[in-house]
Amino acid sequence: MKLLGATLKGAGAALAAAALFASSPGTAAAATTEVVNHTATGAGSRTFALTIDDGPSPTWTNQVLDLLKDRQVTATFCIIGDHARQYPDLVKRIVDEGHRLCNHSMHHVNPTRQSPDQARADLQAASDAIHAAAPGARIDYYRAPEGGWTQDIQQYAASQGMQPLGWSVDTRDWETPGVDAIFQNYKREFQGGGVILMHDGSQENDRSQSVEAMGAILSDLADNGYTDDLSAVIG
Ligand SMILES: [Zn+2]
Repeated sequence: MKLLGATLKGAGAALAAAALFASSPGTAAAATTEVVNHTATGAGSRTFALTIDDGPSPTWTNQVLDLLKDRQVTATFCIIGDHARQYPDLVKRIVDEGHRLCNHSMHHVNPTRQSPDQARADLQAASDAIHAAAPGARIDYYRAPEGGWTQDIQQYAASQGMQPLGWSVDTRDWETPGVDAIFQNYKREFQGGGVILMHDGSQENDRSQSVEAMGAILSDLADNGYTDDLSAVIG
């Protein structure tokens, strides 16, 4: 550090210090406003990140968690605050089993159809609902409903320590097109380091195709040597 201090001044020294801080073991990188759509290891790597939206819901989230436990895969759950309030035990199960949390708003309203203040309040209410269910749990990401990103909500999410989270593989499982079609959507779009989008909510929707397709997708990824990774945090 003496050499660094002697040779780097001002912003340079601050950047070097920030880089050292960010790379310290156990220290989470700070969130940025960028919408990430690749794993922490990077696009092109032999990794994937599985992201699961719109839950929790008793029927489907439990089936997904059982599947992930069986396959020893860690995923990111993009949780709707309303559903966290209804099913707090499921949020706890997600956290207890080592998965990561993503804030997916309180009521699943697209931020581009809200005022900036409404979108911020929606995000904050969802964080509160998630924390009421799982006190102290880290919420690493924020995903805008329907991918309705605005500069304001990206900045606000980052200010709350949540990395805006996109995706690179849309399985379109929410259209319930059949297990084979969901699998083929994955097969067509997946490249190494990709972030896969699937759904486990809501309770009123039939996600049985999603669960079955997820099993096939995880088998295919494992057969091809891909391992699960975090979605990237840019910082
Ligand atoms: Zn959603």
